[in-house]
Amino acid sequence: MKLIEGSTVAAAVYSDCHAELTALKSLGRVPGLAVILVGDDPASRAYVGAKERKCQELGLHSEKIELPFTVSQSELIDHIQRLNADPAIHGVLVQMPLPKSLCEQTVIRAISPGKDVDGLHPVNVAKLAMDDPSGFAPCTPLGCQRMLQESGIDVAGKHVVILGRSLLVGKTLALLLMRRGSGADATVTVAHSKSENLPALTRQADILVAAIGRPGLVGADHVKDGAVVLDVGINRIEDPSTKKGYRLVGDVDFDAVAPKCRAITPVPGGVGVMTIAMLMANTIRACHLSRQ
Ligand code: NAP
Repeated sequence: MKLIEGSTVAAAVYSDCHAELTALKSLGRVPGLAVILVGDDPASRAYVGAKERKCQELGLHSEKIELPFTVSQSELIDHIQRLNADPAIHGVLVQMPLPKSLCEQTVIRAISPGKDVDGLHPVNVAKLAMDDPSGFAPCTPLGCQRMLQESGIDVAGKHVVILGRSLLVGKTLALLLMRRGSGADATVTVAHSKSENLPALTRQADILVAAIGRPGLVGADHVKDGAVVLDVGINRIEDPSTKKGYRLVGDVDFDAVAPKCRAITPVPGGVGVMTIAMLMANTIRACHLSRQ
């Protein structure tokens, strides 16, 4: 069984990033990422902090905008519009989830598609669905695809079963892997909470991706011998024996499933690491594509 570690694959992504940054800097250009954080959710704050630190480490310009829980939709959109017009900013990301008083779809639509490095704007989703490579794909699915590629796992013609149909992960990963060309050409099945007889379905998978947010739901009986398993789930479960009082686990029961696999990702240290790496790659690409 091969353990696909996020840090190893992310190192390859960052190596590409360094080369591209050097080329851009020789032209006097520095990619810039703006992240908007609304409210004070600890997990969101931690994700935003990690993104900011990675920008600093790589030498990207970064801007963090912290807004109170009570911010109005129009104020939030004013911030986005200012960033859309700012030539030093090439990527704009609004950390999700937003407070219930704000409409996530309206907020995402306010981001200029050319700066939508999270790949969730309808223009970018449509480009992904239409096989138009000029758009941005969401970072977590891109990270999954890159992990498979860097690990020498060819998905062409293989049956990939994805658990979860969110736009953020499951649905867009299906679109990515169904595309024509390198790292794609897979036969994809997407399952969700209404899918019947899940274990029988997932046992057909050459490559199984779990993105459901259900700790340890995928057990040994869900996986065929020799399958590749990507665990996207990040779930906090209480654990008083740890300093923080909780620990992170995936959607896959790692100990039960790993012995059956050809390759598997751990949680933490797997797909999560790739999401930030692909965000950096998307931001650098946005800078390349922009004239600013
Ligand atoms: P989400 O929007 O809540 O979607 C969850 C999906 O899983 C839905 O399609 C849901 O089905 C399906 N589902 C839920 N319970 C199920 C079950 N028992 N059997 C089959 N399908 C089930 O979540 P998400 O944003 O896609 O995130 C999924 C997980 O990935 C979470 O743990 C999240 O923290 C993690 N995540 C990790 C990263 C990363 O960087 N590694 C990034 C994003 C998300 P319905 O559509 O029928 O409700």
